[in-house]
Amino acid sequence: MRITVLSGGVGGARFVLGVREWARRDAAARGLPEDAAHDIRVVVNTGDDWWLAGLRIAPDHDSLLYALSDQNDQQRGWGRRDETERVAAELQAWGVTPEWFTLGDLDLGVHIARTAWLREGTPLSEVYRRLGARWPLGVTLVPATETEVDTHVRTVDGQLMHFQEWWTRYRASLPATGFENTGVASAQPSAGAIEAIAGADVLLLAPSNPVVSLGPVLAVPGMREALRSASAPLVGISPVIGGRVVRGMADACLAAIGVQTDAAAIARHYGARSADGLLDGWLLAVEDAASVDGLTRAGIPTRAVPLWMRDADTSAALAGDAVALALHLG
Ligand code: GDP
Ligand code: CA
Repeated sequence: MRITVLSGGVGGARFVLGVREWARRDAAARGLPEDAAHDIRVVVNTGDDWWLAGLRIAPDHDSLLYALSDQNDQQRGWGRRDETERVAAELQAWGVTPEWFTLGDLDLGVHIARTAWLREGTPLSEVYRRLGARWPLGVTLVPATETEVDTHVRTVDGQLMHFQEWWTRYRASLPATGFENTGVASAQPSAGAIEAIAGADVLLLAPSNPVVSLGPVLAVPGMREALRSASAPLVGISPVIGGRVVRGMADACLAAIGVQTDAAAIARHYGARSADGLLDGWLLAVEDAASVDGLTRAGIPTRAVPLWMRDADTSAALAGDAVALALHLG
């Protein structure tokens, strides 16, 4: 089966790990080789990317890369394991990087490699391919778009600041009135994204931040049309459980675009495919089961399932529920 997931970073990576685990278990149950039964592609948000110290940083891609290659720091929740920060200390001493954004030494190696390739004119999708070739990831990562569409935040005082500053320096505490993806009007979906979407049997929206992770992916002109014209059913998974975001500060982003921190409100934000939206189906948490009937009547067939991704078992079960709903609807 060809499964394509649209994803952000840390939350998305947990879900993609679950999809890979589900696929491996399914293959084993059928007596097939681990990574041969299913073709998993991930369309990755590039809106978080930015330039720092002359380097191109790609947080969502790298979160996925490190999680899938088991190089991630599970305690801290971001970056590489066994990381050191000698170079970061030097960069901060020179005033080249702000004290609120630390680049680990191993992490810097990835940023330098990526930047070197980009400066030679290598397309971003080829950079993804090279970075992904080092470890057996079991999934293919493709950028949503090849060109730069960095997310900027419009704050209440009218300032426009890069998303990373708003998120990391101010911990999303400055009230925002909206988000803009600089350069998005002239962007287009990468060929890999189009191929992954058009060729999929199942399309999934990871339980990623709907505003700053999936928002920039969906804002690329042509992306929604590609999803809406795909033959595969599209199922989304709620990042909100019982009116709360599970990890992170997505509630601040939702508030800025006037969407409640609520599983049903997020489903309506994505919309029913039958009514100019994207969703053929929606998974929300058992804690939110009261919304199932209303959403289903509104054209978004919805199931309540365990939505906490605590470990390989719970993440694989959630992925299996998503695939099962998609196949049921397809
Ligand atoms: P980021 O790019 O690193 O911010 O990560 P994502 O945008 O991909 O994911 C962040 C979102 O994942 C947050 O809004 C969380 O609510 C959601 N999330 C994190 N862990 C879980 C979980 O165990 N279950 C569900 N349903 N959502 C989760
Ligand atoms: Ca992100």
